[in-house]
Amino acid sequence: MPHGLIVPGRPPRPSSQQRSGPELQEECGLFGVFGHPQAALLSYLGLFALQHRGQESAGIAVWDGEYLDCEKGMGLVGEVFERAEVAAWPGSAAVGHVRYPTCGSSDPVNAQPLVVRTFPGTLALAHNGELTDAGRWRADLEQKGAIFQTTSDTEVIAHLVSRSGRNEAGEALLDALGQVHGGFAVVVLSEGELFCARDPNGIRPLSIGRLGDAWLVASETCAIDSIGGEFVRDVEQGELVSIGEYGIRSAQFAAPGRPALCAFEYIYFARPDSDVQGKNVHQVRKELGRRLVRAFPVDADLVTGVPDSSVSAAIGYAEESGLPNEIGLIKNRYIGRTFIEPTQEGRELAVRLKLNPLRQVVKGQRVVLVDDSIVRGTTSRHIVGLLRQAGAAEVHLRITSPPYRCPCFYGIDTSSSAELIAARKSVEEIRQAVDADTLAYQTLSELTGALGYRADQLCLSCFNGDYPVPPPEGATSGEGRGGRQGGLFSGS
Ligand code: SF4
Repeated sequence: MPHGLIVPGRPPRPSSQQRSGPELQEECGLFGVFGHPQAALLSYLGLFALQHRGQESAGIAVWDGEYLDCEKGMGLVGEVFERAEVAAWPGSAAVGHVRYPTCGSSDPVNAQPLVVRTFPGTLALAHNGELTDAGRWRADLEQKGAIFQTTSDTEVIAHLVSRSGRNEAGEALLDALGQVHGGFAVVVLSEGELFCARDPNGIRPLSIGRLGDAWLVASETCAIDSIGGEFVRDVEQGELVSIGEYGIRSAQFAAPGRPALCAFEYIYFARPDSDVQGKNVHQVRKELGRRLVRAFPVDADLVTGVPDSSVSAAIGYAEESGLPNEIGLIKNRYIGRTFIEPTQEGRELAVRLKLNPLRQVVKGQRVVLVDDSIVRGTTSRHIVGLLRQAGAAEVHLRITSPPYRCPCFYGIDTSSSAELIAARKSVEEIRQAVDADTLAYQTLSELTGALGYRADQLCLSCFNGDYPVPPPEGATSGEGRGGRQGGLFSGS
């Protein structure tokens, strides 16, 4: 494997506003290994399990005892890497990353891990989330002479590490992470140690596992499971975990703030076979479906969930209501990223190719359609339209989350408030816009009840505008990331 190779791969992708995929885009996936002779291969396999969290780019960095090497490129894990080649990479510690950019900058230079030569040594940084003070830090560091190579806020952490004046990577990371704010999880590979950390509010998830004597770190437990590992524990709020030949150590880079795990990890982002903070995502989603039946019953013939994220909720809805749970929509999983279209017409065709109604199931039926969220409303309108064109007699839309009214500043690609349909319209107006016969959203209290938390133990900002970490300077709830398109930074 060539040292420090960056594979440019494909030209930059269209921005999030040009995509044909779901309205709410995932964030990034992190995977780390320490103490296994096939660390690169395990990272590669772990990233496959996290592919749903980012399809823009993929990268793996490996420490072989002498060099810290990195290979990365634009595309899916299977497009960027050849399994046989990865299996031949030497090294017992590795970090992998799949990226979805949250600020529109889809440039190969932003692919991660980000390899930097800092004062305490060479580091490979992989980051999930967003620093709310990245803009201020960048301006400050540039004024002091720092030269940035990427537009990713991850590079701010690298600069702060290098300027910490500490000799040891762990101490430098403690210093750097203690200075930044936002919702983030990081996994960092140094020359001989693996570090992982989670923001002081625990907004972004990060879990630790074991495979024999080796240590694993992953954004989701499904990645630990998928390579035969065992979950050990979650990284705590404000905690920096160091893993080395000495074993595992823990330190706080900041005092824990109020707990604020992203509620959307349960609703949409995480895979159903993941446990997020000890709660299985599939079971939580089923409960979300059950609660919708109790709160908003409707006479219907069948229930169907929008694949894949709402399939679990539809099962819960069907169990509670007694209605048959049918496959009303088929998702084509093999189109991948081929149909990223710059025009509205092209995007509509792409959505049609990705999702097709099962006419024989829905024709003449009163259908309960379960989905996880409505962001801009265009996708919901399209899916309701598909069912009607297939002959559905009625379409009753049930949303497992409350109205998505406010932008996210913690690493999720949402539009500005101006583009969020629930920020502008009442539920009845949204029903009309998406052309459903009835529309009901989960209430906030039913959401927190289904998740098993109090409201002050979760981030619910996109529903209630109550931000656990202050938004970036100058940003208001009306200036979400969509409103900052073209800005200097992209989250990762
Ligand atoms: S604002 Fe919404 S999407 Fe963003 S972290 Fe909070 S709950 Fe998750």
